[in-house]
Amino acid sequence: MTQTLVLGGGLSGLASALLASSRGEEVTLLEADRVGGKSRRITLEGQTLDTGPAVHSFTNVWKTLLGRIGEQDPLEHLPWPGLGQHLFRGEKVEFPVRPGGSFYADWRRYVERQKGIDVAGLLTTPPRLTNPDFLRMSWGLARAHFPHFTARTYLESLNLPPLLLESVAIHALNAGIGSRYAPALYASLPALMCEEGLSVPRGGIFELIRVLKNLCFERGIRIEEGTPVSRVESGKVWAKRRFWNYDQLINSLDYSRFQALKGGPLSTRKRTCSGVALYATLEEPLPLPFSSVILPDHPHRLERDLLLAQATDQSMMFVNHYPPHTVYPENTRAVLSILMTAPADGRSYTLEDGWMGTQLSRLERVLGLPIRSVLRSSTLLDPQFYSSWGAGGGAIYGDARALWQAGPFHTPPHRLEGKVWQVGTSAHPGGGIPGVLGSALMVDTLIREGK
Ligand SMILES: Cc1cc2nc3c(=O)[nH]c(=O)nc-3n(C[C@H](O)[C@H](O)[C@H](O)COP(=O)(O)OP(=O)(O)OC[C@H]3O[C@@H](n4cnc5c(N)ncnc54)[C@H](O)[C@@H]3O)c2cc1C
Repeated sequence: MTQTLVLGGGLSGLASALLASSRGEEVTLLEADRVGGKSRRITLEGQTLDTGPAVHSFTNVWKTLLGRIGEQDPLEHLPWPGLGQHLFRGEKVEFPVRPGGSFYADWRRYVERQKGIDVAGLLTTPPRLTNPDFLRMSWGLARAHFPHFTARTYLESLNLPPLLLESVAIHALNAGIGSRYAPALYASLPALMCEEGLSVPRGGIFELIRVLKNLCFERGIRIEEGTPVSRVESGKVWAKRRFWNYDQLINSLDYSRFQALKGGPLSTRKRTCSGVALYATLEEPLPLPFSSVILPDHPHRLERDLLLAQATDQSMMFVNHYPPHTVYPENTRAVLSILMTAPADGRSYTLEDGWMGTQLSRLERVLGLPIRSVLRSSTLLDPQFYSSWGAGGGAIYGDARALWQAGPFHTPPHRLEGKVWQVGTSAHPGGGIPGVLGSALMVDTLIREGK
């Protein structure tokens, strides 16, 4: 029986372990900390809050994963009401724009242009030039954007009002890089996400991890938590002075970190952005929608600073507000998360930090709400935290890549060598949950085809 070793127990590692087990392989997963990776659950004053990902898009990828391993979806997916309100230089627009809202005609014109892009298909089909399905979907993508290659130049070609253009463009930062450097696909995602609909499992995003972990136990997959891999050799992996032999290795760690475990140098390439995330319980619910996006006044400066990993004066802020008994049914208090993009410099922040003070003051000014005075208990995650078991400097999606390194030309490839495979954010930068689950599905397809 093939002995498969999976490195890392985030979404992509857990999904890869289950797929390997359903191929009939004997699977062990090594996780440095606890399973979950960037997706974690915390409790503040008895209130549940999930840190890391908050919103689930392109849920067909999740369903494809469960279908492939022969499981029903046990989760209830609550609809998440769009990408929320976007505030830019004193103006506001909500995505999706509803009929009758300002910019509705421009929004629809933009949305219509994205029809024909099959994101879930692209995220689950191995990018090979010999695969007719991949070629068909790539053609749909190219036709939507041609002759533009970056998200910014494509959006500029649509003649959208500045508020709409910047509010769409800022979402390229979900890929970890700004719209001037991100492939045009990232300009299409806000439209496609709003058209398809976003969701969150009842109980929070960490329910995805809980489901995957339980399935691993049911299927006899060995999960070794608190087991940081310290060396990778051909056929053998070391952790805590023990070693595990493998016939096949599936790596979900950041690729650069993995190379270092094999004795290679640490990457010196440009990085995707990191973040500073504040999670808090509130004295009382705020008059806020579920999601707000606060843009910087000069998005191009933020994009440049993040790519160069240098200090930035105004961050982009995602604010998610959960009234009691909503996403977290047991919560009796409102909880709030504020995610600020920050350079991937490995820095540590506190609430008293000058930069945090500046960002929070701006947030309060833009929203017109005394947020700091209603915070009760809080916790802060910063680039230092994200770098502890993630990519250098806390880069959420690892190294930044050039435009041409997409699809079939992506580095690292899914197959690193022989029976060593790469899944997760390094194989799918900017993919978020569907991207990393998709990478596990692609590797599964490639392994099955090779058998
Ligand atoms: C603040 C934040 C908000 C986000 N919001 C969203 C969102 O709303 N929607 C969305 O779709 N996506 C979102 N994302 C992205 C999403 O969280 C990630 O794409 C996804 O969780 C990555 O999963 P992964 O398995 O590839 O990697 P990870 O979750 O990073 O897992 C890698 C695992 O490897 C382990 N590891 C590292 N080194 C070692 C070692 N030496 N030995 C053993 N184990 C090791 C780590 O501990 C970790 O568990 C967000 C991310 C962040 C940080």
